[in-house]
Amino acid sequence: MSAIAPCRAALLQISRSATVSTLPRSAVTSRWVQRRNASTKHPKGFVPPSQADLDELRERTIEFARREIPNELAQQVDHSNEFPNEMWKKMGEAGFLGITADEDYGGLAMGYQAHCTVMEELSRASGSIALSYAAHSQLCINQLMLNGNDEQKARFLPGLISGEKVGALAMSEHSAGSDVVSMKMTAKETSDGYTLSGTKMWITNGPDAHYVIVYAKTDPDAGSKGMTAFIVDTSASGFSVARKLDKLGMRGSNTGELVLDNVHVPKENILGQLNKGTRVLMEGLDLERLVLSAGPLGLMKAALDVTLPYVHERKQFDVPLASFQLVQGKLADMYTKHRASAAFTYSVARAIDEGHEAPEIRTQDCAGAILYAAERATECGMDAIQCLGGMGYMNEMPAGRIMRDAKLYEIGAGTSEVRRMVIGRAFNKEFGVTRAGLTV
Ligand SMILES: Cc1cc2nc3c(=O)[nH]c(=O)nc-3n(C[C@H](O)[C@H](O)[C@H](O)COP(=O)(O)OP(=O)(O)OC[C@H]3O[C@@H](n4cnc5c(N)ncnc54)[C@H](O)[C@@H]3O)c2cc1C
Repeated sequence: MSAIAPCRAALLQISRSATVSTLPRSAVTSRWVQRRNASTKHPKGFVPPSQADLDELRERTIEFARREIPNELAQQVDHSNEFPNEMWKKMGEAGFLGITADEDYGGLAMGYQAHCTVMEELSRASGSIALSYAAHSQLCINQLMLNGNDEQKARFLPGLISGEKVGALAMSEHSAGSDVVSMKMTAKETSDGYTLSGTKMWITNGPDAHYVIVYAKTDPDAGSKGMTAFIVDTSASGFSVARKLDKLGMRGSNTGELVLDNVHVPKENILGQLNKGTRVLMEGLDLERLVLSAGPLGLMKAALDVTLPYVHERKQFDVPLASFQLVQGKLADMYTKHRASAAFTYSVARAIDEGHEAPEIRTQDCAGAILYAAERATECGMDAIQCLGGMGYMNEMPAGRIMRDAKLYEIGAGTSEVRRMVIGRAFNKEFGVTRAGLTV
């Protein structure tokens, strides 16, 4: 038995019997609390978790999902298109919201492998709850961790990590999606801050958020060098949600169109440096793509969860469906797609965690992990529907929901086409070739 076994057994025992509010966050982190180092992409003193730590976290997340996000809830969230708002505090009490955040602010400081682990298992239970979770914990909280100053972290992180407050990130606009740098939102300087004007489109958690990280042009003539990130309090005068959007999938992850009509934002709420928003955005996008790539992993597992028992129980021609080789072929493909995608995602996350003293975040790896996983997850969702036949097409079964949820990951956080472009450009950069094909 390994040295950590008694502690792990105790943790799992507590997880099974406890209510969410009594889950011992400290038990998960205690083992590496003494092993401390420095990193720019991780909280101060971060130490990469061991495989045993990650296994323990996975079991805890599975237990949480079993108790708090049963299939009935996932189906109801999908049908009603309403996020269960009580989930924020439950996820906060379980420690999931601040997985990558500093313990000083209530986080777990466990890094990106851990964040992917929680994201994968929450997505397995409900793609849409997990998408909202990622917008809050990665797009908002982790961006604040990476770019916020001490005062901003102390002001915003505790409420967000506990689940008292909801966070979002807004870069996309109607006319600026893939070409996000062409955004029109402006931020004009005033005597004590900035006035933001414009609209943002497709913002996850937008209708519920208390704080939104908003990108705006502080020097519109300077293109990508004139953009700044701001932390916007949604209670400010002039901020409104124009509409909550009705979606194909990820229903219940509330997505909104936001209007900022001369919203005053104090200078203290600039995230990162003035006119350096592109850097904040691009660095954030790499880690965002990595953590979001665990969403399709969970959806592939969910597809297997629904398909495997069904094809072993249902008989046609007097034998279980799973005895037909054409069905076996689909099962084999689904399983292999999940395993290959998971190996890609976790190897990239491990490299970032373990190289934490000088982490090299490879754009092509973060884009590649989500590009591959997202397309495979949609295929797995389609295969699940096909294996279930007529029942696969019924909304009372989760197969259709899984496929609809998976498709989002080919669009959000940059489309598959943009990810391929990003990977291609990374090679061009290595070979010193510009977009037009000219050598730099
Ligand atoms: C459910 C959901 C949640 C979202 N959440 C957020 C959020 O929280 N915050 C946020 O800021 N944004 C969010 N988005 C926005 C998302 O990031 C954009 O939708 C995405 O970047 C694509 O932009 P677009 O929709 O404008 O598509 P477009 O850019 O109009 O693209 C349309 C098609 O053209 C292709 N295309 C575009 N340019 C090229 C090119 N150069 N070469 C080849 N093909 C190209 C695209 O790949 C795509 O297939 C969300 C979107 C959805 C659907």
